[in-house]
Amino acid sequence: MPSYDFIIIGLGTAGSATSMTLARRGYRVLGLDRYRPPHKQGSHHGATRSVRRAYLEGTAYVPMAQRAWKLWRRLEHEFGQTLLVKTPNLTIGPPDCPAVSGFLASARTYEIPHEQLTASEVRTRWPQLAPPDTFIAGLEKEAGIVFPELSIATFLDAAVNAGADLVLDARVDNWTESPDSVQVHTGRKVYVAGRLLVSAGAWTGKLLRLPDNLLTPKRVPVHWIDVPPDRNLHLGRFPVNFWQVPQEHSGRGQPGYREFYTLPVTGTEARLKAAFHNDLADCDPAVLEREVSPAETAKISKVLTSFLPGLENCSMVSNVCLYTMTADGHFYLGKKPDSQHVFGAALAGHGFKFAPVLGEILADLMTDRSPEFDMNMFSPLRFSDNP
Ligand SMILES: Cc1cc2nc3c(=O)[nH]c(=O)nc-3n(C[C@H](O)[C@H](O)[C@H](O)COP(=O)(O)OP(=O)(O)OC[C@H]3O[C@@H](n4cnc5c(N)ncnc54)[C@H](O)[C@@H]3O)c2cc1C
Repeated sequence: MPSYDFIIIGLGTAGSATSMTLARRGYRVLGLDRYRPPHKQGSHHGATRSVRRAYLEGTAYVPMAQRAWKLWRRLEHEFGQTLLVKTPNLTIGPPDCPAVSGFLASARTYEIPHEQLTASEVRTRWPQLAPPDTFIAGLEKEAGIVFPELSIATFLDAAVNAGADLVLDARVDNWTESPDSVQVHTGRKVYVAGRLLVSAGAWTGKLLRLPDNLLTPKRVPVHWIDVPPDRNLHLGRFPVNFWQVPQEHSGRGQPGYREFYTLPVTGTEARLKAAFHNDLADCDPAVLEREVSPAETAKISKVLTSFLPGLENCSMVSNVCLYTMTADGHFYLGKKPDSQHVFGAALAGHGFKFAPVLGEILADLMTDRSPEFDMNMFSPLRFSDNP
């Protein structure tokens, strides 16, 4: 008989929440991580993540985002920790760009309180922002930010308190499967369980032995800007702001968009966070270039100068984070199509806000319960020859 009901490889965002949920449901859980989460090697570092319910990536996410919000609040009450702080969220761009129209469609469909603002209204409310007159913005007032490192540490504590075994600094090299169990191989030991979740972030595609182009690791330079001392860019005064800006294009086909965002200053270091969200370079996390080049900082400086002009000439430091992208930009959640016992999770660069609900969904899938949300959009089967 296997020693564990479930092994979870990767105790970051999805893995910590799933370990907590499964252990709290009374299962025997072993979690393995090559590092000591939370850490700076994967996809979950960087102090803040935005949380919103009007979901521009697709209305199908809204019920999950609503459930996640409730769970964030429930967990912080239970643990006596502030995990989520409310702050407005702006989506800014031309009226017909996918981000703004997606935001408005999901806000209207689910009656999420929101406002549609002209560019001049944005500039009046937040003089730090300078959208051109041709842009509009969707404003969700009841949005927020969550703190990823604290959240993961909290989930892992809760998993251990509920009886989970966690083995850290334990890199999984391989797994094998037999009719009744899976065997998970680290350099030191082989562990056996009934079922396995691979939630290894940017390493998930390789560990699941998926075709190369299915889950693509992306290198994400993140910039921390030393802001003026007037506190106008701090949490409470400054909203999360996501921009979709038309790219100069050749005149043929549809125009593309450049996507970037800034998040307000939190904590004691007076630094605003800024990053691009698309046009990111593919990478191999095993040999990741963690230095950010002057050309990369020049690129973000250029958009900041145009759209947040008060930041011109501010110094910045930069580091690198990772996305795990799918071809359609939606999550990969569920059983590996050619396997009996092995499941995978990849979050396509926008998953943190869902962490607690992803814990529930993955725990449901791994115990043959139907999640309360439609999973077709996230099913690994959508990428197989016989979906
Ligand atoms: C710069 C940036 C900004 C973001 N902003 C937002 C945002 O505002 N809102 C939002 O919702 N989302 C945001 N995201 C996305 C979100 O952070 C990710 O989708 C999420 O953290 C991915 O979680 P994960 O569990 O897949 O990976 P991770 O959290 O990286 O966890 C994977 C874990 O697997 C471990 N692992 C890997 N290989 C092995 C192995 N062989 N053996 C054992 N363990 C292994 C790693 O050590 C790691 O701990 C952002 C991401 C980045 C990079």
